[in-house]
Amino acid sequence: MFKLISFVPVWVLLTVSCLAQTPSWSDDLLNRYDRYRESAIQDRRFKHAEMEPLILSLARKPGFEVRERGQSIEGRPIYVVRYGTGPVKVLLWSQMHGDESTATMALFDLFKFLQGNDEFNNLRALFREQLSLYFIPMLNPDGAELYQRRNAIDIDINRDALRLQTPEGALLKKIRDEIDADWGFNLHDQSKYNAVGPTSGEATFSFLAPAFDSAKSVNEKRKNAMQMVVVLNRWLQQYIPGQVARFDDAFEPRAFGDNMQRWGTRTILIECGGLEGDPEKQKIRKLHFNLLLVAFESIARQSYETYSIQSYQDLFYNDRHLMDLLIRDARLVENGKSYIVDLGFNRNENPYNSSRNYYYQSMISDIGDLSTSNAYEELGASGYTLEPGKLYPTVLTGLSSLKQMNFSDLHRQGYTDVRVQSVPNKSDVDELPFRLYSAKAKAPDNAIRLGENPSFFLVKGGKRAYVVVNGFLYKVE
Ligand SMILES: [Zn+2]
Repeated sequence: MFKLISFVPVWVLLTVSCLAQTPSWSDDLLNRYDRYRESAIQDRRFKHAEMEPLILSLARKPGFEVRERGQSIEGRPIYVVRYGTGPVKVLLWSQMHGDESTATMALFDLFKFLQGNDEFNNLRALFREQLSLYFIPMLNPDGAELYQRRNAIDIDINRDALRLQTPEGALLKKIRDEIDADWGFNLHDQSKYNAVGPTSGEATFSFLAPAFDSAKSVNEKRKNAMQMVVVLNRWLQQYIPGQVARFDDAFEPRAFGDNMQRWGTRTILIECGGLEGDPEKQKIRKLHFNLLLVAFESIARQSYETYSIQSYQDLFYNDRHLMDLLIRDARLVENGKSYIVDLGFNRNENPYNSSRNYYYQSMISDIGDLSTSNAYEELGASGYTLEPGKLYPTVLTGLSSLKQMNFSDLHRQGYTDVRVQSVPNKSDVDELPFRLYSAKAKAPDNAIRLGENPSFFLVKGGKRAYVVVNGFLYKVE
């Protein structure tokens, strides 16, 4: 398309380049997202058995080709979904790491979009005519089964690009070679604790055009990958300003992204991080769905070629200085002496139900001067003193009897811990402002120590104003 521009008027060129920055269809598409959202997948910890029927049903849809191309170590089929018959080959693979499923969710939304028949038909026709899209959703189904990074024999597939000992990694290489992919999208999730450089913004997306040698040389294809990152970043900045970073660009000789680039595929790593108020990453999924359409359009129209790679190089790197909760400048009293400290909590996921679900178990991840850290939730606690929570003297029958009591009264009296005759599942109480113990349990000391999970109050003027239980902050009413 841009090859035609040399003889069109300047105003057309400007219009076209604006469209290239901000696809005119993307707001409309986000507004109509519910039409395309794959409702069979609602959260991050779905398994191969939940995903497989969705893939198999695509085989009956016009325009799609679905083939089982290999199996994981434990024998789970790995499928390649193809859409379009255009000259430019684009390969996308998700969930090479079993616990990184956001992109897989986005791919299923994308499949529903591609099946649609509505005002976006021009976009679908453009993709079909210009592109051949090859998708490998959930490359590591055995890892997904346990919701773990590595495969069934504990190999990190992303360090197997040279040896190709894992069937999953070997399959990815085989598909790449077979189609001689022009573009590769390596789809991952990263820690929610990554921020955008020194800023307080969470790195909701991080990108990388991986290096193909240790000198981090830039050839034409890597340059194209960098230009694509610029396209994607510009689009995302409209929706999550200040929340896009760059992944560590050191050359990793064993990784797939780096080797894909070396094998001649323009490769882009996309990492989904955290987003405030989106623990199941459903908002990120929605952005990711649209982001891939932006990428496809840019490839189909070659609009990426107009961008300078300087904007890529200007992106901040990931900087891991986020926490879930940060309490600043509180007074800690120990043995009659007082200290001003910041307290950082991380809320860790403890799996249950064969890793299909989880509950939060929090811990103090750092203590001291945390002025260079940020958190999803912060409280300035200057003038407040930390006071450990107390054990309620009476043993209650269970959770329901606690729920009949007045939480505020209990908190005002300094109680955070309660003994019960029948102890509920941790998954039922992980976001309750009390911790429950068995009838014979000793009183927890709730010491403010690194790695511990104390319950405590923030007290000012003799009044208990806030309470922290299991790393969650509550106001005492
Ligand atoms: Zn990963």
